[in-house]
Amino acid sequence: MKKIVYAILVLLCTVVFSCHEDEVQDQKSDAVPEDIISKIQRAGFDTSEGLSKYRDGYLIEYDILLTEEQIDELIEENENSKNARTQHYRTTNLVTASPARTIHVYMDAAFDSYMQNSFITALANYNSLNLSLTFLSVSSAAAADISIYAFYEVSSTLGISAGFPTAGNPANPIYLNTYYYNSSTSRPDAPTVIAHEIGHAIGFRHTDYMNRTFSCNRPNDPNNNEGSAGVGAVHIPGTPTTPSAESWMLACSSNTYRPFTTSDVTALRAVYPHASVPVRTIRSAVFSNVYMRMDGSNVTAAVGQGSGLVNCAYGANLYERFNFYPQVDGTYAIESVQFPNVFLRMDGTGLTAPSDIGGGTANCQYGSFAQERFYIVKLSDGTYTINSKTYPNIYLRMDGSTVTGPLDNGGGVVNCQYNAFAQERFYISPDLF
Ligand SMILES: [Zn+2]
Repeated sequence: MKKIVYAILVLLCTVVFSCHEDEVQDQKSDAVPEDIISKIQRAGFDTSEGLSKYRDGYLIEYDILLTEEQIDELIEENENSKNARTQHYRTTNLVTASPARTIHVYMDAAFDSYMQNSFITALANYNSLNLSLTFLSVSSAAAADISIYAFYEVSSTLGISAGFPTAGNPANPIYLNTYYYNSSTSRPDAPTVIAHEIGHAIGFRHTDYMNRTFSCNRPNDPNNNEGSAGVGAVHIPGTPTTPSAESWMLACSSNTYRPFTTSDVTALRAVYPHASVPVRTIRSAVFSNVYMRMDGSNVTAAVGQGSGLVNCAYGANLYERFNFYPQVDGTYAIESVQFPNVFLRMDGTGLTAPSDIGGGTANCQYGSFAQERFYIVKLSDGTYTINSKTYPNIYLRMDGSTVTGPLDNGGGVVNCQYNAFAQERFYISPDLF
């Protein structure tokens, strides 16, 4: 039996195991009584590996720390769940998120700026999906729903989550090992490991919990295909039944940065869907029957400069329909209805004065981050302006002067303007407020 806890790239595996395996095994694994192992199995976990006595509980599947009371609760709550052997899993314990809820998260000030930035990235990646959970960083553990603490241990443990949600609240706290995450390491997997432990805290199990060979690279381990009874493992509809190599909830880390895959997005949105919002259109106030059009057909990953096409259409059909998601900072994120998780992006770099032809860029982004957040103001004539949060004086502009009839791929220009004039005014239907 081998000991890793949300672990380890292939090379590091070899190194850590060769140095510490025996020692760690002696310290940890034999300390789990048989009756506890039986309980853990009844609660639906794989005990063939990654199990040890740890602190005031038991470390399960490498990085999930559960007390005996929590194990008992999971047995009770999960005993009616069905077995499932497919890709994305959640527990039956979730965070209460209806209506939408803000989860406050604290990152131990002992971590350096690289880790603080990784923390911000992890939260931003969750928030980019406009889930019913919004993650907000706070500066004290007292104000936090989830606190992320540093600990130091010479072991193969990267991070530990305190189990799964209880009573509708996220599990708390999370621990990250400064043996791996310190000022001289800057490990690329830091944002993913933080997102992974938060994933447990809000109720997600390991994507590959039935077969850890998938991420942990142990093809010859006879235990790799052994699974638990699957109690409490609920397959998430819409996620694939074949393994996904890049999921953020794989049990082992490859020490790479892995933003959410499309299947991860499906899983997160299935479990924590945003409250439904009305489908809306954005119509020019000055060009008759001209609507904003968004083609996100090739937009499948977040890239710095955005991608896809935002232009004008004559009339409103599938590409001219949008969801407006309110954000905790008072802004909105504007998502294509036709292309889920594709958002309007504006880049006003270099535009420092009004221009007859506008400037900057309006296009698409996969997910909504800083450049995809907008202040929307309603004017006295019933029109709206759409103002970039990142670029304070920059507004969405639409020139539909050449769009006088239907076009296959749209036409005209949608870009940015410095300040708002006629072409920067829109009717949003139905009214946003
Ligand atoms: Zn894990």
